[in-house]
Amino acid sequence: MFLCIATWGRRIGGVALTVAALCLVGVSAAAAQTLSVVATTSMIADAARQVGGDRVTVTALMGPGVDPHSYRQTRSDIVAMTQADLVLWHGLYLEAQLEEFMLELTRRMPVVAVGEAVPMDDRLAHDTYENRFDPHVWMDPNLWPHVVEAVRDALTEADAEGADIYAANAAAHLAEIEDLADYGREVLASVPPEHRVLVTAHDAFRYFGRAYGFEVLGIQGISTESEAGLRRIEELVDTLVGRNVGAVFIESSVSDRNIRALIEGAEAEGHQVTVGAELFSDAMGEPGTYEGTYIGMIDHNITAIARALGGTAPADGMQGRLASGT
Ligand SMILES: [Zn+2]
Repeated sequence: MFLCIATWGRRIGGVALTVAALCLVGVSAAAAQTLSVVATTSMIADAARQVGGDRVTVTALMGPGVDPHSYRQTRSDIVAMTQADLVLWHGLYLEAQLEEFMLELTRRMPVVAVGEAVPMDDRLAHDTYENRFDPHVWMDPNLWPHVVEAVRDALTEADAEGADIYAANAAAHLAEIEDLADYGREVLASVPPEHRVLVTAHDAFRYFGRAYGFEVLGIQGISTESEAGLRRIEELVDTLVGRNVGAVFIESSVSDRNIRALIEGAEAEGHQVTVGAELFSDAMGEPGTYEGTYIGMIDHNITAIARALGGTAPADGMQGRLASGT
């Protein structure tokens, strides 16, 4: 087939190029039988891989350390999305800069905002926008199953023949997430109640705090788009000193500049604060590592927070697989 196209190409130039392109698409479609899925965040991509298994090819637009609040689509993202069989995004105004494009795309092809599967009653209100919600639902492993189920349903809708496989894979993954939620309850309950204060760079941990009884104080608000004011940092320094908080946390997808300012501010008042750990807030770890999965990401956070704030948790986490040595 390819030889035939090459002959045509030599004979009629520009027209032949069009024919060749069409044929090559045909060849690659025949070679790849999997459902092609593009996901915005790495957490959603992981859910699609867990549920889709061998039947899907998943591409995540945002890799480790990428901040979804400020992310803008690139030309290659647009190509990837328009050529995919299914596009999954979070919604709930997480990908604020992508929203307009995603809504437009939704009118043309299968696009699902899987974060919006979390029921209204379980959502936390947004701090600055009325009628919007805090998007960081992945931080609570009791809520993430809603998203995994939405991914399962979207894959099934796009590829009905895979329904049984998607259902079985989703059930297995949901069982793992349940174990993770139990592990969190167990080790975070070991943190002395007076130490259950989580200070982070931005407000990504409110669902986590609600699930496990921690007070959560972010320097920036729910979105990293808003700048933290000097007054907010001073307020938090007072809180650290006044409540004798010994550890604050940096985040993998947000600059640590404000956290450093906080530590220096507390030091100036004679109060020693350490960096408890780097937490994964809005992106997972490196692909191919345990921390590069949803389970590993949350295991890392739970374990690191418990240990830094005076609780008891195994250094290598729930499954003995944490490499980060919290
Ligand atoms: Zn965030």
